[in-house]
Amino acid sequence: KPRAVNASHFSASNDRSLHSECNLVLLGCRGAGKSALTVKFLTRRFISEYDPFLEDTYTKEEIVDQEPVLVRVMDTADPDGPVNPERYLHWANAFLVVYSIDNRKSFEACCQYLEIISQYNKGAVHESPVLLLGNKLDMERYRQVSIADGSALASRHGCLFREVSACLDFRLVQQVFYDAIQEVRRE
Ligand code: GDP
Ligand code: MG
Repeated sequence: KPRAVNASHFSASNDRSLHSECNLVLLGCRGAGKSALTVKFLTRRFISEYDPFLEDTYTKEEIVDQEPVLVRVMDTADPDGPVNPERYLHWANAFLVVYSIDNRKSFEACCQYLEIISQYNKGAVHESPVLLLGNKLDMERYRQVSIADGSALASRHGCLFREVSACLDFRLVQQVFYDAIQEVRRE
């Protein structure tokens, strides 16, 4: 009996270690707010001016649903649409595709990323979850992309849909990253 308990204990902790790291990549056109969202998640602060050419990967330890996880966030900086997707397709456990609700073009740019990810997922053993993120929710007055459009695009690609703002409540931004981690754990 004690052996059986030990065995199940071991397999449980092995399962956990499978998910103790989570690689997230933020994609989308320049100006959508990828860096602002990344910095907000990492530091709880809104930094309004961030080098638009800087692409980097950051690491943060988090506790999500009482489980520790090492989160890596790749904040990409494509100049104008997807280039070299190989650098993140295999690396990422989940994709956050970001547009700005006050910019129709940024929304249209998401389609290209969603297509590339869908293609990749079709050939992959494990599908990597995707979140479509409408950022700059504080710019409601200048909205060019309706909630219906965002959610329709998301369901066409079988992904989650959220609207956020990098300059409003930290917990909303944090929850979006947690949603991605929870989706990865469900895979
Ligand atoms: P990136 O090119 O996708 O990394 O975009 P940035 O994070 O550099 O943001 C582009 C611009 O949008 C900057 O001027 C930010 O201050 C601004 N920005 C980012 N997120 C928000 C947001 O949620 N609300 C508002 N009002 N501005 C934002
Ligand atoms: Mg950036």
